[in-house]
This record gives sequence, C-alpha cells and structure tokens, in this order.
Amino acid sequence: MSEIAKIVSETTQKLIGLAESSLSDVIKKNGEGAKVGFEGTAFYLPLAYSLLGLEVKDLKGAKDIIAQARLLAEGKPVSAGLVIPYLDGLLSKGLATLLVEELLAALLHATQDGYLGFVPDTVLRSLGVQLVDGRIAGIAVIIGCAKDSSTAVSIIRGFQEKNIVSLLVGNQGQRNIRDQLIEENVELGLDNYIVPLGQDELSSIYAVNFAIRAALTFGGYKGGQWNGVLKYTQERVPAFVVVLGKLDEVIVTTGLGVLNLGFPIITDMDAPQLGKIETTKYEALVTEKDYDKLVARCIEMRGIKIKVSHLPIPVLYGPAFEGERVRRENLKIEFGSKYSCAFEYLVSRPMEMVDDGKVELIGQDIGEAGGKAMPLGIYVEVASRNFNKDFEPILERQIHRYINEAQGVMHMGQREMIWVRISQEAFDKGFRLKHFGVLIHAMLHKDFGAIVDKVQVTLFTKEEDVKKHLKGAMDAFVARDERLKDLTDEKVNTFYSCALCQSFAPNHICIITPERLGLCGAYSWLDAKAAYEITPTGGNQPIKKGECTDEVLGQWKNINDFIHEKSNKTISEVSMYSMLVSPQSSCGCFECIVALIPEAAGVMVVNRDYAGTTPLGMTFTQLAGSVGGGVQTPGFIGVGKLYISSKKFISAEGGLARIVWMPKDLKDAMRPRIEARAKALGLEDFCDKIADETTAATLEELLEFLKTKSHPALGMPALI
Ligand code: SF4
Ligand code: ZN
Repeated sequence: MSEIAKIVSETTQKLIGLAESSLSDVIKKNGEGAKVGFEGTAFYLPLAYSLLGLEVKDLKGAKDIIAQARLLAEGKPVSAGLVIPYLDGLLSKGLATLLVEELLAALLHATQDGYLGFVPDTVLRSLGVQLVDGRIAGIAVIIGCAKDSSTAVSIIRGFQEKNIVSLLVGNQGQRNIRDQLIEENVELGLDNYIVPLGQDELSSIYAVNFAIRAALTFGGYKGGQWNGVLKYTQERVPAFVVVLGKLDEVIVTTGLGVLNLGFPIITDMDAPQLGKIETTKYEALVTEKDYDKLVARCIEMRGIKIKVSHLPIPVLYGPAFEGERVRRENLKIEFGSKYSCAFEYLVSRPMEMVDDGKVELIGQDIGEAGGKAMPLGIYVEVASRNFNKDFEPILERQIHRYINEAQGVMHMGQREMIWVRISQEAFDKGFRLKHFGVLIHAMLHKDFGAIVDKVQVTLFTKEEDVKKHLKGAMDAFVARDERLKDLTDEKVNTFYSCALCQSFAPNHICIITPERLGLCGAYSWLDAKAAYEITPTGGNQPIKKGECTDEVLGQWKNINDFIHEKSNKTISEVSMYSMLVSPQSSCGCFECIVALIPEAAGVMVVNRDYAGTTPLGMTFTQLAGSVGGGVQTPGFIGVGKLYISSKKFISAEGGLARIVWMPKDLKDAMRPRIEARAKALGLEDFCDKIADETTAATLEELLEFLKTKSHPALGMPALI
C-alpha cells in the first residue's frame, strides 16, 4: 500500500497545483470577478457546495476550493469539518482531488461534440421516478476503452438488459468506448441508457458531481452537510465504476475519491485488490478479466437488485430499449399513424371466455405482405375472478411500454392513435407479430399477476377486421372517458399515498386523489389503487379520508395523521388544494413547478423541459433548487402536468384563473385541457391571456401583458 500512498499523495499535490496555476491564469485573463460554474444546476460547483458548503460563483470564490482541498489533502481540519479518516487518509486525498478536478472542469473544460459534458439538474430529476420504480436499476461509470468493439457492445448490452445506465468517460490512445459503440451502430443517448460524458478522464467528475446532487435534490441535504451527503450516496445512489484498459495515477487517485461516495471499482487491469471498507457495501476494488462475468460482478459488488424479464422472443428486452427509435432506413414495416389503420384495446371478460396464453394472428404476418405498412389491431382480453373494470385503461396503457421495450421495435401513442415500427434487424432475428402477443401476455402476468389470471391476445391485420373491431373499441373508449370524468375527490372516500420516492427523499409522501395525481405525473389515483391491489403492502396505501377539517384548503384529519407518521414526523398537515398554506411537499421529480408571482396576484407554471428563464429571472433548475427533499415550501409546489387543468388546481387560492405565465410549449400541449376547464369557469380565450416567454420575458413585461389582456388574476385578491 505504501507504493500507492506515495502515488496518491503526489498526484493529489500535482492536481491541486495544476488547479491553482490554471485558476491564476484565468484570473489574469478575466479578472477575479469573472463567473465560474456549470450550466443547468442550482448547486454552484456541486461538490464544493455539498462537501464544503462553498457557494462558489466567481474566480475569487474558487480560491477557497484550492485552499480547502490543500488542507484536506494534508489531513488538516477544513471549514465544514470534513474529515475522512479511512485508509490512512487516502480517501481524504482522493476527495481533495475530486474537488480540484471539479474546479478544473469548470475552468478549462469545453464539451466535445457527441458528449453531454456536465449533466444538468433536470436530467437528474427526470431519472428520479425511473430509479425508484426500478426502470433504472443502477449507474455504471465506464472509464476507458474495451479490448475490442465487440466486447464493448457485449458489456453495454449486458448493462442495458439489466436496466443499468452507462456513463462513458475517458479514452485510451485516443480511442474510447463511445467510438467502439458507434462503429458497431449502437444507438446512444439517455433514452438508450448510454450517455457519453466526455473524451478525457477529467469528465469522470461529471458523473461524480451528478451523483452527489441526488443528495441535495432528493435527500433534502444542504450545502456543507458532507456527512449526510456522503452517507446518502453510499446508501441510495446505486452507482459503480468500471475501469477498462488503462489504470494511471490520476484514475487511481480519482477512484479513491469516488470510494467516499460508496461506489466500488471494477477493472480488467491488474491492481491491488481492496476488500470492504467503511464506505462501501462490499469489496471496494476488484479485478475481473473475464468479460462475460464483468456485468454480474458489478451488480453483485454494488448490491443492486435487478428485475429482469426473460421473454421467449428473439430480441433483447428491457426498459433500456424503450426509448430507441426505428428510423426509416432500417424500417421493415410500420403500422398506424398516417400509414395505416391501427389500434390497441384491452378489455376484461368472464373467466371462461379467455384462453390464457393464446396468441392468434388473423391475417398476414410481417414479411408475407409486400409494402412498408400494414393495418394492425392489437386486441387483448384479460380475465380474473376479481377484476375491476376501472383497471382496463391502466393495463391497456402498459401495452405502449411493453412493446417499446423490445429491441428494434418502436411504439407511440395509444388507443386508435398508435404508431408501431419494426426494424429490419428485429425482423431478421425472427421477430414476428405473434411476439407482440407473447410479450403482452408475459408482462401482464409478471406485473399484474395479482389482478389478472388470464390473458389472450388476437392480432388483426386485415383492413376490414381492424375497422370492425376498432368500432367496438371506440364505443368503449367513450364510455371509459365518461366514467373517468365522474371520478372526483368528493365521490370517493379513500385517497392513496405514494411512498415510492422515499428511497430518495426519505420524508416525502405524495397523497394522490382523483383530481390530483402524483407530482411526477406517473401515478393517478387509479394507478395507485391498482398498485395497492397488486401489492397490498407496497408503496401505495389507501387512506380513508374521514373527517374533513378544512374544505377549502383540502385537509382531512386522517390524511394529516397519516402524513405525520409517514414523513417521520416532519410534516404535520398538508393541504391538497393550496400552495400557500401547508402545501404538499416535493421529492424532486416533479414535472412542473407552480411558483407565486405576488406582483401579478398570480402564479406561473414551469415545466422541466423548459430551459429558458422565467419572469422571476430564474430558470426551472434554479427554482427547483429550492423545492424538494421532502420539505414543504409555501408559495412553491411541484406538480404533475395534468393537475394544471384539474378542478382542484390550487382551488384554495382561486384556481386556474391565477395562472399568468407558462412556457409556450407547455401551454400549447395543455391548451385543449386548459381551455375546457376555463370554459367551465366562464373564462374566455384564457390560454391567450396567459403570457409566455415570447410575450413576457421580465416581470415588467408580464404585468404589461396581463393589463393589455385584462387577465382575470388582476381582479382577484392579492395572494400575500
Ligand atoms: Fe414519487 Fe409521488 Fe410519483 Fe410516488 S407519486 S413516484 S412518491 S413523485
Ligand atoms: Zn419523486
């Protein structure tokens, strides 16, 4: 170990020196007041902020990082009291290295084409729900280059199949794993669970300062709470590091830094092995030269639980293939959209009418007919002794995901508006229409076994059959929508809780009502009800409303008691209909933020995808930085998109009429729903009275715009 200790000490000093000289060069050039930081985060330089509590905004402030890193490397006390005694101080030195690497990246780094570089807060938020519901099981930080392209593909496919996102970093002799994957025509991108961060080793810091922000975003930790922050990443961020083909002193020293976060290291190189240490769950560093075993070894070392679906279909299957597109160049056949008539429909039947596992194709299969498009009807019949008809739409909605998760198959839309594509590659591997039935049958049993006993699938490809069955389905869709319209908070006596996000935000609990869905947008009241019936001891629990203590705010005694207990006694009351008085807390993965604009007696709603600034002078990311971690923040709430057009949307404060600003894309996407709700309220042309970034970029412009449009909020009482 003494050999390593020497290397680590020298490398740490070298990097601190490099950061210091780089900083003084930049100061000479731009002056001490010049800004430093990354785009897309509310957490300054995230490592310096979370571990040292430094809010570094300019080059002058950056000097603090160097001073503190130096103390840390020498084992002397630093301002936030950060001390890591493990491995004879080597972990401290590693941490000091990470801190200056982050600064170096902020000072010097230019993002290369084809690489993401710094990972913005919004990406982290969007991954939140996927991590809690298991669609993402873990994160692999892969440094270097595999021994050849086919090995690279097999490692990455192995991770994809296990729902693990790969972050690619670094190079070896100018080549890196991204190049290898491109050579093999692997589709990259977050949707495919493969994200190239950068070509040099310094980019590994982007994986680190991404992971550490989970503690700030979901865990509710504040800057400088290093102890909690590190414990959080150790226990709750399922990441690990894979070092391929190269192990130099910078990688070793950085690796020791990363061990502080609890992420073990697996390499195909010879290296001194390191068993379990205080910060890791199992071994800290192991060599694995057998590439066939590498993926399994990583999963085992990080203690990641994997849910895999092995289906009898000829292509790979899993959430990592959900976002993959099938382009025209590799298209074998498509269905729906403007190319043909197509639909999908799921209906429940009496037990004796359904033949479980039966998959029937009526009409020609792919490959039998010429042309690039065919009609398609996907007709799913389910049966169960205790099936609730209300669950039909929930099961039907899964068809989208189930089909999409097959490699080489793309699915969009729902009901009579589907668009499905099958790639030439999938066809060549033997994928045929019956496989839709096979996978729908298998997955419905797997995910919904508790409420579904039998599943039968019929696929129609003759135009007249598709049209005939579509007609019956359309009648059912209309009836279903009518039933859903009737589902109001008043008409039910039970709400549901959702505690899924507690694995990231331990004090957060969502209350889901028929008229207010979960803030991630992924769970409606019916979803929660179905989830409860499937897993009665799971994250969704029914709560009898009981006595209403405040109708306007939307408070019930039982709901408050429940929240108090499940929030670990941090929250004692929650108003379902107010953003000002005891509003619902946020975990961090909200689709939108509703924020008060007192000057306009209104609110703005900003969605996660909006990258620009708002009239408050802040971006979504900056706003989101102060909402989350399971804390109530009066004046700010995280909400699911669909809540905007709900009758209960901040009804305690006056409801929809309070919305004065929204990004244009969100407004356009929500327009039909907002207009319908506005009409019910007697508001005319309401959408056009809501300002957006094209009509009001600043608060002054907003107030001016509202005046010219006679926005109803101006006539409402002040909000504070
Ligand atoms: Fe998390 Fe709430 Fe969504 Fe449940 S409903 S997954 S707790 S955000
Ligand atoms: Zn959440």
